[in-house]
Amino acid sequence: MTDHSDVLIVGGSIAGVRTAEGLRRLSFEGGITILEAGQDLPYDRPALSKQVLTAGASAESVMLRSPADLDKARIDLRRGSVGVGLDADARTVRLADGTVITYSDLVIATGAAPRELPSVPARPGVHYLRTVQDAVRLRDAVGAPVRVVVVGAGFIGSEVAAGAAARSASVTVIEPFAFPLSRVLGDLVGKRLAQLHESKGVQLVLGRSVSGIEDVGATGKRVVLDDGTALSCDVVVIGIGAIPNTNWLAGSGLYVADGIVCDEYCRASVPNVFAVGDVARWPNPLFAESMRIEHWTNAVEQAGIVAWNLTHPDSPRAYAPVPYVWSDQYGNRLQIVGRPRAEDEVRIVLDDPADDSMVALYLRDQRVVGAFGQNAPSQLLALRRSLAARASLEEIMTAFEN
Ligand SMILES: Cc1cc2nc3c(=O)[nH]c(=O)nc-3n(C[C@H](O)[C@H](O)[C@H](O)COP(=O)(O)OP(=O)(O)OC[C@H]3O[C@@H](n4cnc5c(N)ncnc54)[C@H](O)[C@@H]3O)c2cc1C
Repeated sequence: MTDHSDVLIVGGSIAGVRTAEGLRRLSFEGGITILEAGQDLPYDRPALSKQVLTAGASAESVMLRSPADLDKARIDLRRGSVGVGLDADARTVRLADGTVITYSDLVIATGAAPRELPSVPARPGVHYLRTVQDAVRLRDAVGAPVRVVVVGAGFIGSEVAAGAAARSASVTVIEPFAFPLSRVLGDLVGKRLAQLHESKGVQLVLGRSVSGIEDVGATGKRVVLDDGTALSCDVVVIGIGAIPNTNWLAGSGLYVADGIVCDEYCRASVPNVFAVGDVARWPNPLFAESMRIEHWTNAVEQAGIVAWNLTHPDSPRAYAPVPYVWSDQYGNRLQIVGRPRAEDEVRIVLDDPADDSMVALYLRDQRVVGAFGQNAPSQLLALRRSLAARASLEEIMTAFEN
């Protein structure tokens, strides 16, 4: 069976759906089809490690769009449709069921999948967290006062630790770096994040990695560390990053290198193909750096640019955002803007124990290149704007002091 869509979008999550909606907002009248491998309506992944895990929100409550919303926007979402091959010369995508769809323009929005620990697939008692089904399974597993070991103290691992602790589990987090997020944010801020976990009774095992996970009896687990010590527990959650979903493009000729490599207009290496969201890598002109960003706001903002560039091929816009991510842990709003690095000079410009608020600026070559904030949303928003305007250190400090 062969079918045609003027714009064909592969991946029906936030990046794919926002691209389709962006096209309609820009008065695109052609056919839009979204192929989505999963069976669900588009849903909000950030809620999985927050509202679903901690507050017990239902799977239905995280759905982003109803069938009526999609119909109204004339978006043909085909669930259970797995793209398995791209022929860029013929401009076709082949589905797992043999269907072939031709396109005028293709947008790849296939996102990312959890990075697995070598030889440790998900199984009863061993969890990864990416889908709403993963979240419901995990929520059910940590509902009782169980012992949970979280592998990785990045955003997802830390949110899972906070969520499980809030649900009366006893939680240990294993992290190979000196402190949570210290690989990116350095030791000063990392130490503060470690204290946040410990103040809520979560134990940290820092500077250690996992060499294996063994089954013990019918349901128990034993997490073996690289120094030979072992932790007994009931539930293991692995949060060690994600890898872009590009396997299905093998043999297509598309340039892939830790993501689909695009130009600054989000155009992939073959004509009429764009990439957006977690799967896309592009040179961000604002930072003169090749980036692939696995954050919600990036998926939304990049979708707007892709929609514009699809409808305005003669006046395309470069995608030059200031990266932004938030995370909610133990009732704290944590935010990062820009591109902080562990080796940057860190300057604390706000630290108020009264409301646990804090702002750290990251300086490189006398310029502010990023910031971390705890419970300081208005300051972080202002900093994001300042970075976008390429404000000088003096301008940023003056704005802060006023
Ligand atoms: C638990 C969790 C918590 C998060 N919390 C935050 C947060 O607090 N803040 C933040 O900024 N970001 C957060 N993120 C990251 C954010 O959710 C992602 O950046 C965002 O979902 C990326 O959207 P996307 O559409 O690019 O990719 P995805 O959401 O990964 O969607 C890709 C879609 O493509 C489909 N697909 C894949 N391959 C194929 C194929 N071959 N054919 C058809 N369909 C395919 C998948 O089924 C999927 O639905 C979180 C992520 C997770 C998992």
